[in-house]
Amino acid sequence: MSEQAELTRPTIGRTIQTVNPATGQPGRSYEETPLGDALAAAAAARKAFIDWRRTSFAERSRIIHKAADVLRARVDEIARLMTDEMGKTLDDGRAEVEKCALHCDWFADHAQEYLAKQPVDIGGGEAFVTFNPLGVILAVMPWNFPFWQVFRAAAPALMAGNGMLLKHASNVPGCALAIEDVLNQAGVPEDLFRTLLLPSREVDALIKDDHVAAVTLTGSVAAGMSVATAAGTVLKKCVLELGGSDAYIVLEDADIAAAAKVAATARMVNGGQSCIAGKRFIVVCSILADFEQAMVEAMRGYRMGDPAKEGTKLGPMQSLHARDEIHHQVTESIRKGARLLLGGDVPDRPGAWYPATVLSDVLPGQPAHDEELFGPVAAIIAAADEADAIRIANASEFGLGSGVLTSNLERGRRIATEELEAGLSFVNENVRSDPRAPFGGVKRSGYGRECSAFGIREFVNIKTVHVKPLGDGGTSGIE
Ligand code: NAP
Repeated sequence: MSEQAELTRPTIGRTIQTVNPATGQPGRSYEETPLGDALAAAAAARKAFIDWRRTSFAERSRIIHKAADVLRARVDEIARLMTDEMGKTLDDGRAEVEKCALHCDWFADHAQEYLAKQPVDIGGGEAFVTFNPLGVILAVMPWNFPFWQVFRAAAPALMAGNGMLLKHASNVPGCALAIEDVLNQAGVPEDLFRTLLLPSREVDALIKDDHVAAVTLTGSVAAGMSVATAAGTVLKKCVLELGGSDAYIVLEDADIAAAAKVAATARMVNGGQSCIAGKRFIVVCSILADFEQAMVEAMRGYRMGDPAKEGTKLGPMQSLHARDEIHHQVTESIRKGARLLLGGDVPDRPGAWYPATVLSDVLPGQPAHDEELFGPVAAIIAAADEADAIRIANASEFGLGSGVLTSNLERGRRIATEELEAGLSFVNENVRSDPRAPFGGVKRSGYGRECSAFGIREFVNIKTVHVKPLGDGGTSGIE
């Protein structure tokens, strides 16, 4: 890591110093939450949860709809905060805030239906399933979508009757506090949702605290393993949304320009810093040369610019550390035989800048093939045919998103449905999360789901209730 990178990483200590990734200049600083205060917040959240769990869906819905209103009213301020803390373009920030608002509205309107009592017939009397809240959920969240990742977890959790403690990434403390403020402004009861500016080394202690019922983490595989280990030692439920190295298969029957457009859009989501960004483009040999050319053209359209200006398509990366890491992956891949088609050079200016980059001849043993590329770098991998492309796509430790680009919808449907080892498989479209559809991965991309009925049921007690009059029928000694 360069000396400049060391200087511009957020400080882990009693004070957190933010850094604007576009300029390298320090921003606001914040006091860390001492562990004792965090544990007291957990106890207070548990107390608030006891009342909240008894509120009606109508009452919770009113508050979560209000949260959507507050988000929309504060969109410019929030988007600017994200730009300043982690370099997101203003346009992307505004879109992210609107998505959070839609998500709040969706769960405010649908939680009751998702969690409605379900009758079951188990012989005699009345039997049904209820979905009761679990308690206080600890949410450990990443910086890349500082609002969306948190609201994606928080809106359903709160609507289900849970409380939440937020431990956000250490480079977005202003966003973390603003989220608590939005929810308080909406009328979420005091202490039910609390932001803790806690270093990650203290997460274990919080998971093990009796006032915390379960934990959800969105982040890297390493953090997922650490959180799952801590949760495992106290047998607490955990949901893990981890990394991805999403493969898009480009078949020989695809319209090449249209495929490259989808591929570049998938790759450049959030400047390439997205778990479900397309990272590996596996192209059948017969169209490889034409696809390379089209992909370079499409990626060239993502010019670097001031993230605070409207219309900018590519801002800085989140930190110099992240920029240095992706540059290292690119140079190592080239050293091991990859061909550089576009970008690949570090601009000579302050800030965490990296250009849209395309590599081809990407092979096993190169970082661009084997590792997650968390930045604006597309890796093109040649495949002999459809079967070979599927084999390469699945030869990854990850299994989050995936795509198929083809003019034959039957073929695309079959590959997406039956062949790709991933939690999401989209045909002729870049993978996206949506409150209406389950979101999550397999393999080292984690387990559990967010969004939809599947997501809201992760943090509830799915309880069987059987009611019958005493003496009405026999009892059984069989378990
Ligand atoms: P990260 O280092 O794992 O950080 C994510 C969160 O976990 C932060 O709050 C971080 O706190 C905390 N953390 C880190 N190490 C921890 C530990 N040992 N114990 C407890 N908490 C810990 O992730 P990142 O590198 O910033 O984010 C990028 C990764 O997240 C990528 O792999 C990406 O694919 C993945 N991601 C996945 C999804 C998804 O939905 N599947 C979405 C977005 C991102 P500090 O900041 O204080 O270290």
